[in-house]
Amino acid sequence: MRDQPVNSVAVALTRAASSTRAVPESAICGAPAYMSPEHSALPHIVKFSGGRSSAAMVLSLARCGTLDPGRGDLVLFANTTAEHPATYDFAGQVCDELESQHAIPCLWYEFCTVEESTRSGWSRRPSYRLVRRQRATSVDNPTTPGYSYDGCAFEELASIKRMLPNRSLRFCTQNLKVLPGIKLISEWLGGGLGPTAAGHHHGRPLTSADETASRYNGSRWEAREVAEIATFVHSRPWMRPAQDWADFTVVSRRCSSRARPSADLAGLTGPPVQYVTLLGLRSDEAERVNRAHFEAMLADGANGGRCRHESHPVGEIIATPLADAGADIDRVDDFWRCQSYDLAIDRALGNCVYCFMKGEPALRRLASAEQDNPNAASAGPAGIHWWADIEARYAGPSDAPDVQQFKFLTLRSPSYAEIAAGTAVAGRRDGVSLPCACSD
Ligand code: SF4
Repeated sequence: MRDQPVNSVAVALTRAASSTRAVPESAICGAPAYMSPEHSALPHIVKFSGGRSSAAMVLSLARCGTLDPGRGDLVLFANTTAEHPATYDFAGQVCDELESQHAIPCLWYEFCTVEESTRSGWSRRPSYRLVRRQRATSVDNPTTPGYSYDGCAFEELASIKRMLPNRSLRFCTQNLKVLPGIKLISEWLGGGLGPTAAGHHHGRPLTSADETASRYNGSRWEAREVAEIATFVHSRPWMRPAQDWADFTVVSRRCSSRARPSADLAGLTGPPVQYVTLLGLRSDEAERVNRAHFEAMLADGANGGRCRHESHPVGEIIATPLADAGADIDRVDDFWRCQSYDLAIDRALGNCVYCFMKGEPALRRLASAEQDNPNAASAGPAGIHWWADIEARYAGPSDAPDVQQFKFLTLRSPSYAEIAAGTAVAGRRDGVSLPCACSD
């Protein structure tokens, strides 16, 4: 298999055994082409991005009866906290239908950090929290918070990493979506009542931005600059209480207790716990489909504590039902023309609204449309000024002429502030829109 071209991998997989279940008119895909027939009995985890393709996929799978809550199936939405308000409304409608009409549990989650003890003392570590499908308010109970929409998780990530994600180093997908999702799936398949508490119960923070800055003495960063950047993450809650699945999905799940809180997806202590991940990749996204299958195969061969694929636990089996059914973007559009609701924004506003992967020309068009339309949502991450502010604060020192700033776009490209002001020049290296591949 090692010598096989990557683009032949998905073809080989789609030739494998597939379900013969009929696809009803209200659906555009049925069961995926499983690599092995036994995989149909494994729990199915749907990665729902909040976009129209993955929404069409998950509704189709529910309407076909492909999803089965009794098998442990689950739909996940990773909230980057920087999505358009219409995306949250749409994702909420889809999840409401899945739960009320098909009894498929849906969970929304967000990246967060907590303080944990390490060999070198207390430190901030990545974690996640479940959130309800209602907007967060200042009086939310920390055990059952609403979803954030002010970019706080995105900023918390930039603050703990002490840099911005960018087109060369797109660590936001990995940290905001993939890795917390793996933790959540492990706890879900572990059979406990919900995520166990993360962080500590000392009642006060045990780390500070100044402590973090002191570790950088002697580096090219001034301690003052590190402290400024680390301030946000140290202002966040230092623990996340234990949460119950039952508070976040109306679909009940048979759970044992908190005694066995997580499943071994990586095969560290024995055979890995297997599950099928369903991605909403279409037939016209062959490169992404091939890459997703190829990475999953690499992960399959990387087993145990010494050799692991960080993004794909060895127990994960990737499936792409839309691509298997030959559903392309036109079929997805046709699907939504027949529904009673739809995502009420242009495709260009999908995912994080001003995602740097969209490229400079697309970002300039979005900024210009935002300025021309007084009704456009422009508060927080829905507007370019939020992104320009984040970039200005986290791109690194700007007053030292010999120190390079790391902005959202490439080094020679304009800043978001320049794009917002309409002073950006087209035709630089960041002109191309790249697939954000956030759900792969
Ligand atoms: S949509 Fe863009 S900015 Fe948001 S997580 Fe994905 S790659 Fe990062």
